[in-house]
Amino acid sequence: MTVQPIRLFGDPVLRTPADPVVDFDVELRKLVADLTDTMREQNGAGLAAPQLGVGLRVFTFDVDDVVGHLVNPVLEFPDAEEQDGPEGCLSIPGLYFDTKRRQNVIAKGFNRYGDPMQIVGTGLMARCVQHETDHLDGVLFLDRLDPAGRKEAMKAIRQAEWYDPATPPTVKLDPHASGSLFGLGR
Ligand SMILES: [Zn+2]
Repeated sequence: MTVQPIRLFGDPVLRTPADPVVDFDVELRKLVADLTDTMREQNGAGLAAPQLGVGLRVFTFDVDDVVGHLVNPVLEFPDAEEQDGPEGCLSIPGLYFDTKRRQNVIAKGFNRYGDPMQIVGTGLMARCVQHETDHLDGVLFLDRLDPAGRKEAMKAIRQAEWYDPATPPTVKLDPHASGSLFGLGR
């Protein structure tokens, strides 16, 4: 079991939909252990595999002292009730924005041994399950904000000290060369 580095906003893996787990093997159980350790070390409410750079549909949660995980989650909403409140993300550290979510959710999936399981979540647990399942689809909570909120969030991210602007690698062009390198500068 190891604490792993968390991928930050701007890393393409966070925008890549994850694949369903097919093999419920020792590798999966190690992934669940790494997710759990890293989540707890960071005092997170949840952590999804893509945040560790792993493109599999697995997340862990730690809400109200209930620690667990879910593999290949499928969400159902038993009603239309909504909640609105602050939400954050370990891949967007230190920033919280009010985000609308459903109040109640039923998440069906499997544990790390392949046994069917489900989470009936309300309030914070429901928020966590929706946030983490979004990660498995390459969706971030910023995408759930209204346009004004998203603009504010992007501004705050660009000013965050951890933010590494996703600039292309530095390419030094020879100003005297005819044409251009890599098709740039035309
Ligand atoms: Zn997150």
